[in-house]
Amino acid sequence: MKYEGIVYRPPSEAYSLIVQVTIGCSQNHCAFCSMYKTKQFRIRSTDEIIDDFMEAREMYPKIEKIFLADGDALICPVQDLEMILKLIRKKFPECRQVTCYASPKSILLKKTDELKRLCQLGLSMVYMGLESGSDKVLEYMKKGADSKEMIKAAEKIHNAGIRLSVTAISGLGGKKWWKEHAVETGKVLSEMKPEYAGLLTLMIEEGVPLEQEIKSGRFQLMNPYEILIETREMLEHMDCPGCIFRSNHASNYISLRGTLNKDKEKLIKQLDQAVSGSAHLKSEWMRML
Ligand code: SF4
Repeated sequence: MKYEGIVYRPPSEAYSLIVQVTIGCSQNHCAFCSMYKTKQFRIRSTDEIIDDFMEAREMYPKIEKIFLADGDALICPVQDLEMILKLIRKKFPECRQVTCYASPKSILLKKTDELKRLCQLGLSMVYMGLESGSDKVLEYMKKGADSKEMIKAAEKIHNAGIRLSVTAISGLGGKKWWKEHAVETGKVLSEMKPEYAGLLTLMIEEGVPLEQEIKSGRFQLMNPYEILIETREMLEHMDCPGCIFRSNHASNYISLRGTLNKDKEKLIKQLDQAVSGSAHLKSEWMRML
């Protein structure tokens, strides 16, 4: 397997075979993200991808889950993705789930029929970074898409029969826009109706553009208690029946998990307890991305 640079994957893909079909991220401008800043984006050649899959087949007798990396693998031409999914079906008949990251752009560039074909060929789920439902925050963070495009992309994924996992980032509005970030993220998630919704908490890695904004005072980070209050507000505005909600990433101050809407009150109660000081918050040194 020829991995280029650091390879990122969602926490739920810890036991998946990871094959890079792209290198880096086609967007790569987000002010808070350091993941692919050292990589020049490219789509790998089909020969390189086939070689990796064949090598994996020789190495592992049983592969049940496959994650197509890097960022935004769905940006690959539909013919390439079809070839990859057919290869997986033929060479890994035991595989029961194929997933990848997808940006709103890569989803909106594909026709619904094309997405349906990818679903029929085995693409089970895509992971999409909403980050925030606030257009102000999305623009400030240079996400490259607004909330309407996020909702439209989600609708397309649902219509194609592919499952959707969406991530938002606590603290991304900073002290200035925290309320708008909370309310709009809750509302946009409600419209996106993901099967899974996850929350990370903002962490600043060295060299990201947002670091300069913080140093200059233009962006103020929130403290852990403010983050919890923001999460509470977000949950109050979420109406996502059946959505599996997780805020148990290594970057989060407390771990929350439940199924919406039925566990909403329980989750809010957990947050209230943490805000009142009767629950343990993760120490800053233990947080990681
Ligand atoms: S947040 Fe996602 S879309 Fe933005 S640069 Fe990072 S990987 Fe790319």
